[in-house]
Amino acid sequence: MPDVHGVLEANEAISRNQLASRADEIDQARRFPRENLEALGKAGVLGLLIPAQFGGAGGSLADMSRVLGMQGQHCPSTAMVTLMHFCAMSVVAAQGSDSQKQQILPAAARGGHIGTLAFSEAGSGGHFYTPVSEARSNGSSKLLTASKSFVTSAGEADSYVVSTRRAGSSSPTDLNLYFVAKGTKGLSTQGRFEGLGLAGNASAPMSLVDVVVTDDARLGSEGGGFQTMLEVVLPHFQIGVASISLGIATAAFRMITTRVGVRKYEQAGGAALSSIPRVQYLVAEMAVDLNAANAYLNETIRKAMAGDPAAMVDILGVKAKAAEACLGVVSRAMTLGGGWAFGKRGGLERMFRDAQAASVMAPSSDVLKDFIGKACLGLPLF
Ligand SMILES: Cc1cc2nc3c(=O)[nH]c(=O)nc-3n(C[C@H](O)[C@H](O)[C@H](O)COP(=O)(O)OP(=O)(O)OC[C@H]3O[C@@H](n4cnc5c(N)ncnc54)[C@H](O)[C@@H]3O)c2cc1C
Repeated sequence: MPDVHGVLEANEAISRNQLASRADEIDQARRFPRENLEALGKAGVLGLLIPAQFGGAGGSLADMSRVLGMQGQHCPSTAMVTLMHFCAMSVVAAQGSDSQKQQILPAAARGGHIGTLAFSEAGSGGHFYTPVSEARSNGSSKLLTASKSFVTSAGEADSYVVSTRRAGSSSPTDLNLYFVAKGTKGLSTQGRFEGLGLAGNASAPMSLVDVVVTDDARLGSEGGGFQTMLEVVLPHFQIGVASISLGIATAAFRMITTRVGVRKYEQAGGAALSSIPRVQYLVAEMAVDLNAANAYLNETIRKAMAGDPAAMVDILGVKAKAAEACLGVVSRAMTLGGGWAFGKRGGLERMFRDAQAASVMAPSSDVLKDFIGKACLGLPLF
């Protein structure tokens, strides 16, 4: 398998060529980007974070951010599917039993197994870390019934990391994570979600009805699910979503700075839009916001990789900051693009829709600020 450097190079080439050329068609058809996943899997990109002993590249959070930022520039739907796969496989690598790791990780490293997270439930909404479903005891196993409200790669993934409360527990964060394979009896996809953006990520509700889960299917110790969410899922998810947001913003910035140079007015003697001071001012604001958010992302990754105890506030903040920067950049780009941007020809309209997802995806920007405010004031988060 390729090393990290090889994976980063392959990801860039596939993103620039294949993801870019299919992005608009995938968005219009609202279809799962299967060929993109196959190309990324074959090149070892889907094994980026899997330890070398299981055939992966053993990459870091910084490598993940580069991969997702590049994919985000070219096809954010594919980037979101890749991110949820990275999150799920990171849970298996960190908390799986030896046999789970042997069974799943080498296949995932080769691109032969795509995973995702099934955390969100209608009953707890964006507060997905406190599921309301419970796994009831059934002799030596448990029966899991849950209504999962949004799952990326629903029906397309080979497996789902599913959260659920411990039966009878009084604490909302006393939960377990289970590995549930595609095709398991009682697991089904419930229609389609039809989101405004990220139309190619196959997001849909899923239901589990009396799905039998044994202790062998649990990822981590009994009751340890919440800790795994905090220590494993949160850094990958937050930094990953931030990277995708800044990928979208980078692409929108590149597109609009080219556009204002070529949009010329006959009535003004052929002067370009870029010659107008207000246009230059908006471009300057976009550049500053994008650079500031990228610097914050890099600093968060540095702190997280160094194990800095102060990293948590930044891990919470970076997704919100990147989402806001992305929305600001893309909105200004839409303004500067005028009718060209408002139509579907240029691709900016898709970026505008894709950009909305990050602040909605839980924890939403508002909920993150609620946490950060409490953390800064020394108040309990839960
Ligand atoms: C494209 C996409 C892909 C997704 N993929 C997955 C996936 O793969 N797996 C998965 O488990 N989930 C996934 N989700 C679900 C996601 O993470 C959220 O759980 C979901 O978006 C929350 O939506 P909701 O409508 O239930 O929010 P609600 O809980 O109804 O929240 C509505 C609004 O209330 C606000 N709000 C709530 N509480 C507070 C508070 N305390 N302070 C301030 N404001 C508050 C929120 O900010 C939000 O704006 C996905 C979502 C999207 C959009």
